[in-house]
Amino acid sequence: MNCYFVSLTSFFTLINFFHPLHAELSTLEYLNQNQLTQVGDMIVESEWVLDPEQESSEDGISSQYVLKTVRPWVNGILRYQFSKNINQRERQEFLSYCSGMGEFADVKCLPKRQKDKDFIFIEKTNENVCGLSYLGRAGGQQPLKIRCWRRRTIQHELMHAFGVAHEHNRMDRDDYISIIWENLDDRFRSQYYKVKLDQVALYLNYYDFDSILHYDSYSGSKNGKIVFYRRENKSTVKQTESMSFGDHYTLYALYGGTRPR
Ligand SMILES: [Zn+2]
Repeated sequence: MNCYFVSLTSFFTLINFFHPLHAELSTLEYLNQNQLTQVGDMIVESEWVLDPEQESSEDGISSQYVLKTVRPWVNGILRYQFSKNINQRERQEFLSYCSGMGEFADVKCLPKRQKDKDFIFIEKTNENVCGLSYLGRAGGQQPLKIRCWRRRTIQHELMHAFGVAHEHNRMDRDDYISIIWENLDDRFRSQYYKVKLDQVALYLNYYDFDSILHYDSYSGSKNGKIVFYRRENKSTVKQTESMSFGDHYTLYALYGGTRPR
C-alpha cells in the first residue's frame, strides 16, 4: 500500500512537471525534489536506482538489494490519449506499432474512456531525447513523449510504458558489457545507472543484445569513441529497429499470451 501511495504521489508531481508553470525548474531539480530519476529516456522511482557511489565501492549484484517490481497494466490494456497536435496518420502509425507488440503477448493499446484513471498521454516533444516514458503504470495520467516519430522509438517507449527497462541497466549487465566511463559525456552518465528491478528472470536467462531496449555502443559518447563493448568478444552493439525475440518473450512473461518459440 505504501509503495502504491509513493507511486501515486510521484505521478502527480510528474504531471506538474510537464505543466508550463514548472518550466523554470530544470529537469534535474524537479526529479530530485520528487524522488524520481531519469535513466536515459526512462523515468523511474529514485529508490529503484542503484546509487553510483555505492556501486563504485561494491561489485555486481548483492543479496542486500531488494529488487523492485514495476506495476503492469491491468489485463495488458494500456489506455491512451493523444495530444491534439498528433495528426490522423501519426495516430494510425502509433496504433499499428502498438498492435505489433501484441503478436505474442496479450497487450494492446485502447483509447482512454471516461472512467479510466490510469492512462498514457502521448505527445510530441522537442526535448533532447528521441522519446521519454515512465516505467510501467505510474497511476493516473502519465506522459509518453516522442520526438523521433518512427517504429523503433515508439515501440521502445511503449516497452517502457508496459514496464520493461533497458538491458544495459540490468543489475548484472557488467557480466555482459564493459563500459568505458572516460568516453562518456557526464551529462549522459545516468543512461548507465543500474536499476534494481526483478526482471532478470524474465529474460530467458540471457542478455539480449538485440533488444529494442538496448542502446548502441556509442550512445552518450563525448568524443566519438566507444562507450561500451561486449565483454565476450569486444564487439560493438548496434541499435536494432524492431523488437527481438527476447522483447516479445519479456512482454509475454509479464502479460501472458502465446509463448514465442
Ligand atoms: Zn529507453
